[in-house]
Amino acid sequence: MKPINPHVLTPTMVRIKEAADMTGHERFFRLRLPRPLGHRPGQFVMVSVPGIGEAPISICCGPGDHDRLELLVRSAGSLTMVLQRLETGDQMGIRGPFGTGFDLADFEGRDVLFVAGGLGLAPLRSLIEPLILDRQRFGRITIISGCRTPAEELFGREMRTWARAPGIRVIRLVNDTAHLPWDGEVGLVTAPIAGLDMDPAATLAVLCGPPVMYKFVIMELAARGLAHDRIFIDLERRMRCGIGKCGHCQINHLTCCQDGPVFRLSSVESLPEALA
Ligand SMILES: Cc1cc2nc3c(=O)[nH]c(=O)nc-3n(C[C@H](O)[C@H](O)[C@H](O)COP(=O)(O)OP(=O)(O)OC[C@H]3O[C@@H](n4cnc5c(N)ncnc54)[C@H](O)[C@@H]3O)c2cc1C
Repeated sequence: MKPINPHVLTPTMVRIKEAADMTGHERFFRLRLPRPLGHRPGQFVMVSVPGIGEAPISICCGPGDHDRLELLVRSAGSLTMVLQRLETGDQMGIRGPFGTGFDLADFEGRDVLFVAGGLGLAPLRSLIEPLILDRQRFGRITIISGCRTPAEELFGREMRTWARAPGIRVIRLVNDTAHLPWDGEVGLVTAPIAGLDMDPAATLAVLCGPPVMYKFVIMELAARGLAHDRIFIDLERRMRCGIGKCGHCQINHLTCCQDGPVFRLSSVESLPEALA
């Protein structure tokens, strides 16, 4: 049996260095940690407010020997609604990091295609950042990011900055402009895949978004010849403990909090509950 690290069981109260609304439903937080988290891209933390509750939230900044932690929180229920009201100087409880995350070595020398739906861009940003920072180590980067309307776009300004870096293509889409000014494309994230300049033997794809998105993106990628062991998916499940003990996030024999939330498609596609 794996030992339990006591530090991941007790939340550390951490001060918010910066808090800002990104949309009407999502709030961005930058925290200053007492020590570097030492996380991998794709990992998450359990965020808590004493007396209210605790929830898993993806780390949305890149890894490194820094004391910065960035989170993007969508208002969904009791805890996340309270988090929307926190300001610079307030505190929140943090424990973790949890999950396996991405191994940067897997991406070395490869072209990488990111497909993000809505809030899915938050965890992917933790991998996009190090790939952009260390451009020589990695191949071409394509980011397809979609949301419902321009008002719901996340990290829009940052995506425009990413698009200016060498070897990076960013395709920003909305389902509907809702009569708002929009400088991206209109359509679903699946639409650009057929026309991408992509070598399936040199490309890894990384997907994160609402469950309905996966099936259709995977179909488009398969049509382009991308093997399933070259596709990473970020699966979210309701979870409580983060250490694989409570069973809330079980996917057949796997626990999403310990074995995931990042999986190679080839390792979960035969599990009936994984992509249901
Ligand atoms: C690995 C992981 C990473 C996540 N990263 C982020 C993130 O970066 N930003 C973010 O805003 N949210 C993220 N979430 C979702 C977030 O954890 C939930 O929105 C949160 O738990 C809701 O808690 P609450 O107390 O506010 O709502 P509750 O009052 O507990 O619930 C509100 C509603 O949301 C439903 N719900 C709760 N958890 C989930 C879930 N995991 N999936 C679907 N429905 C759920 C409940 O059934 C209820 O209908 C992540 C979830 C996981 C598993």
